[in-house]
Amino acid sequence: MQSEAQSLISSKICSTEPVFGGPLKRRPSHGVDVRWGGQLVTIGGDAPVRVQSMTNTDTADAIGTAIQVKELAQAGSELVRITVNTPEAAAAVPHVREQLDRMGVSVPLVGDFHYNGHLLLRDFPACAEALSKYRINPGNVGQGAKRDTQFAQMIEAAARYDKAVRIGVNWGSLDQDLLARMMDENAARATPWDAQSVMYEALIQSAIGSAERAVELGLGRDKIILSCKVSGVQDLIAVYRELAKRCSFALHLGLTEAGMGSKGIVASTAALSVLLQEGIGDTIRISLTPEPGGARTGEVVVGQEILQTMGLRSFTPMVIACPGCGRTTSTLFQELASQIQTYLRNEMPVWRDQYPGVEKMHVAVMGCIVNGPGESKQANIGISLPGSGENPAAPVFIDGVKVKTLRGEHIAQEFQQIVSEYVARTYGKREETAAASL
Ligand code: SF4
Repeated sequence: MQSEAQSLISSKICSTEPVFGGPLKRRPSHGVDVRWGGQLVTIGGDAPVRVQSMTNTDTADAIGTAIQVKELAQAGSELVRITVNTPEAAAAVPHVREQLDRMGVSVPLVGDFHYNGHLLLRDFPACAEALSKYRINPGNVGQGAKRDTQFAQMIEAAARYDKAVRIGVNWGSLDQDLLARMMDENAARATPWDAQSVMYEALIQSAIGSAERAVELGLGRDKIILSCKVSGVQDLIAVYRELAKRCSFALHLGLTEAGMGSKGIVASTAALSVLLQEGIGDTIRISLTPEPGGARTGEVVVGQEILQTMGLRSFTPMVIACPGCGRTTSTLFQELASQIQTYLRNEMPVWRDQYPGVEKMHVAVMGCIVNGPGESKQANIGISLPGSGENPAAPVFIDGVKVKTLRGEHIAQEFQQIVSEYVARTYGKREETAAASL
């Protein structure tokens, strides 16, 4: 007779339902097309979750801004936002676009407007045309009676130039009139909400209310993306869960002012992973503060790594490396793992076009015999370096088969060469096949 545990296992095995869940289901949303020339980036709908970024240059410096946009685009940013805060910045936007087009960089530009966007879009039509999307913060479009008019002017500009918009609410610049009104309404409740809940509700109402107003003004739902950015992980999760339930607009996710280094990376990853796992979020931006002198592209790498680690998209071959332990006597495997990671990332701008599918490749760099051969066999290509007291030899595995053993001082260079040849042989085949069938 079967025990309770045995019959549970049997019923699971015989079930036609997936035991461990199935593919992740995305929240349905309106797809928003963002274009520049022949370049189309769709956000929401069936499109993959997009990675975007923002420059920190003075946009009035058109050359400096174009160079940073190019760096971000080459790192994989699918849209790049630039600050448009002054007449000088607005006048420079078409020149930034021209420089990029001249360099063959077709990434769509998003203009970040606060306070004077209605004037800049009116006075600088070439700027309005060169941007592919406008970011509008409903808390910063004007005070009192001017707010509605100035918001309407920006939406009308988007409709006239056929541009998408992000209605981006931020709790650091929340519409204070709306918040005050909601606080008063709350105080009149028989059982008032706590202040945090009122704040959440104000963020959501500001975003959805502004989006509905934009629709009334003639902008299609397929032109509008929403965001409600806060700086606390639990706050972001709470706000977006509710926002996602109440509307079908595409959503831009990001923790605002995430911070520097590991703190910013961990906070952004913690917040975004929970929401993405629930199918919430159509485009992400990681608001990392770069280290002094650090590259701005770090935020793109982190965004890509969140999506890739969660299995949502592939951008760069994945390096699987063990952490090392008392069995490792040298830093060779750490150096090799770092070197291979850098090599793969540096090659990707060229490989992306030349070797389609290479972004799904897994490379294992392991420190000893305990898990080394097993993990290396699971990867497309793997190396198991010798641990302490082991034979000083490093077996290399390709697609699960041991093909070579490396020894001596040049293991790192030889392994990189093996990886390079594997990529050309494995992912270059499609081009050859396509060429042969012509
Ligand atoms: S693979 Fe070997 S060196 Fe790496 S963590 Fe495991 S036991 Fe330690």
